[in-house]
This record gives sequence, C-alpha cells and structure tokens, in this order.
Amino acid sequence: MPRIVEVREGVLKKNDQLARDLRARFDRLGVFVISLVSSPGAGKTALLQRTLKELKASRRLAALVGDLATDNDARRLAEAGVPVRQITTGTVCHLDAEMTERALAGWNLESLDLLFIENVGNLVCPSSYDLGEHLRIVLLSVTEGEDKPLKYPTIFNTADLAVITKIDLAEAVGFDRDEAYRNVRSVRPGLEVLEVSARTGLGMDHWFARLGELSARRGSAVRTG
Ligand code: MG
Ligand code: ZN
Repeated sequence: MPRIVEVREGVLKKNDQLARDLRARFDRLGVFVISLVSSPGAGKTALLQRTLKELKASRRLAALVGDLATDNDARRLAEAGVPVRQITTGTVCHLDAEMTERALAGWNLESLDLLFIENVGNLVCPSSYDLGEHLRIVLLSVTEGEDKPLKYPTIFNTADLAVITKIDLAEAVGFDRDEAYRNVRSVRPGLEVLEVSARTGLGMDHWFARLGELSARRGSAVRTG
C-alpha cells in the first residue's frame, strides 16, 4: 500500500514544518514548552497537577491537555489555578502541531514562562508528531512492566528525559528497577531517568530542580530533532 505511506509522509512533513514554526514562535516569545507522553494511566495528569501547584509561585505557567473525550483532566489541572485548555481529539489518538497551534489561539504566550502539553495517552504515534516543544518527557509507571521501552522504542528514542512514576508502589508490584533501567538504556543509551511519586512526593524535589535547570537552557534548544 505505497499510496497510504506517501500520504502519511506528507502529513508528517507538514506537521514538522508547522512544529518548527511553532518552536520558533515559542523561542521568540520566551516560553519554554514541555510535553508529556505515556500510555494511558501512567500518571501524566497527577504529575502535572502537583508540578503546576509547586511551580506557579515562581513561574508563569499554563497547560494544554489532550484526550479523545472529556475535559476531566483539564478540570483537574485547572485546580492548580493556572490557565488550562483541553484539546479533545475525538478519534485521533495523538496531538499534532496543528491542534496545538489552534489550542493556543488568543493566549498571550508572552506572559508565560512554561507551557506544559499533556499528550493523549499513547506510546505509539505521539513519537512521530513534533508539537514544537523544547523538551519531551516520557513517563513509565512501575505498574506497567519493565519491558515498555523494548516494546515502544521509538517514543523513548524521541524523548529527552524519562520519568518512572508511581515509585511508591514499586515494592508492592515487584517492580524490577535494574531491568527497567537496562531496558531504557538498551533502546536509548544515556537517556536521563528520574523516579517520582506524585502521590507521596518522593523524588519530586529533584524533578522540580531538573525542570528548572532544563528550562533555563531556553534559547539553546534542548531538542535537537
Ligand atoms: Mg491525563
Ligand atoms: Zn495516534
């Protein structure tokens, strides 16, 4: 089916161009953009909720959140008291640059330091769609099994940082930390891995510190792709 492949490449090329334009706009306006990707239920919203609450005292924040349906996550995130917009994708299982751009309409990006984008829960196609973000973070929860990186290498390959979530449950679910790290590094040698629990707060200070350091590199784009 060469035809289908051609069409898809066309879509991706258009997306890449749009994403590049978006990133240039973010750079010009001085907003650092961080996207979160993971499978459904890995804890993107929980991590983001806690992160928004913590960082809003020192940074000007906003968030976009993608889901196929419902605005539940946007409502959860808005509890932090920062601007949040839901992107409802319907049948589409990922965000793309066009949806991102559309969702930003009317927002004063200049007044932001950090913009978070929570992608639709999916480890497959989000890897192919650049959203113009500066930093892409892949989450892996201890409840999912240590072999996720082996099954979904592309998303780990396009991420700038991996975060192991729900680390407070590691012992209860028999999470094999060494194997998880081995698997992450076999698909992506050198990828930085953090461990957090948004519920108990374990590892969260380190996470906040790394976000601060990485976002301070604004302008000297962290992403190379
Ligand atoms: Mg969510
Ligand atoms: Zn998709």
